Amino acid sequence: MTRPSVQTTPASGLLGWLGFGRGEEDGPEHQPRACPGQQARALLLERISDFLLDNDLEVTAANLATAHAACAGLNPRLERRVRRRVESGEAITQAWLDRAIAADEPAEDVSLDKLAQQLSSGIDKFSRSTQSARTNAANYGDALAEHVDALEAVPGQSDVVASLADYARAMLERSRKAEAELRMAEEEAVVLRHNLDRARRDAEIDFLTGLPNRRAFEDLLEREYREARAAVEPLCVAFCDIDRFKQVNDRHGHDAGDRVICVVAEMLAEISGEKCHIARHGGEEFVLLLRGMKLEEACALLDTTRRKMAARKLLNRRNQQPFGQVTFSGGIADIFAHGGTRPALKAADEALYEAKESGRNRICMAPSPA
Ligand code: GH3
Ligand code: MG
Ligand code: MG
Repeated sequence: MTRPSVQTTPASGLLGWLGFGRGEEDGPEHQPRACPGQQARALLLERISDFLLDNDLEVTAANLATAHAACAGLNPRLERRVRRRVESGEAITQAWLDRAIAADEPAEDVSLDKLAQQLSSGIDKFSRSTQSARTNAANYGDALAEHVDALEAVPGQSDVVASLADYARAMLERSRKAEAELRMAEEEAVVLRHNLDRARRDAEIDFLTGLPNRRAFEDLLEREYREARAAVEPLCVAFCDIDRFKQVNDRHGHDAGDRVICVVAEMLAEISGEKCHIARHGGEEFVLLLRGMKLEEACALLDTTRRKMAARKLLNRRNQQPFGQVTFSGGIADIFAHGGTRPALKAADEALYEAKESGRNRICMAPSPA
């Protein structure tokens, strides 16, 4: 993508339309001198419009937002994905862009979480009220039963007493029925709670590898960060990404690619334990959290797995074709050296990029900020 500088761009297309261009028809005397801020905005607008036009993408709100995030440097990850796609000579299609955005979406679905919490507290409330209603119904039933017995025991009862006894018996039957229904409702609430807990657990597991997903990792990261800070223990975060994975898909098919992802997941899971957590971050990318290890130590541990993986000879078991060497690259950062989880994730991502750029099949440590 070549980008003409804003000073030489004629007023055309989106820029001209928005009044940022320097149309010949305006003449220089009508042209106010753009201040640096305006120039920067004009350049950004130009990049956004180039991005959409060059790639033949529709001008939709979603595409504009994505182009803005990538062109304004708000989303370096997406920017890098786009750059690498362009460098590989492949087209940025709408489908590719949608996938790239989906892979980049923040894991936490606040509204869903909130809904699950509301449902959970609703079930608890319902359980409590059915339990107390059932207890009340049972007590009422017992008291009524006593009175019915007493009424029936009255010698030579009048019609009024007899019909009162009938009425009380009918009430007793109803209250016993209500009690049974409340007991069933209580049991249903138990099943509901169980299902909700299971659904919440499932929502945190990656269906392909069985590893925790990015959503679960985000929660874990914040929890471990608080605990490690309180315990004054080192904490490192790492990204790992399978090298040239697209080729695996292209040569062996998507299903075989899925199996390769599972193999790498299993290899990484070998080092997971109380002090090392691993999750599938999305696609062919994994994220690790290593506690109680200094950066060099954590890097060495991850490097052991990298070497083991690179030494394996994987075969496509469907047709016995070799996959060739399957490797991954990694970037690792010390969370406390970077002053928090977000900057450390960014640093680890940059270190991963460095590992890719410098030849792949290696782990790079993020330098501590000066
Ligand atoms: P690099 O070494 O630079 O990481 O190259 P790469 O080919 O691994 O990276 P790129 O981002 O170009 O391609 C990643 C591919 O992974 C593209 C996408 O279709 C594929 N992919 C993402 N998720 C899955 C998945 O769940 N299963 C399979 N089989 N493929 C996936
Ligand atoms: Mg990737
Ligand atoms: Mg990759």
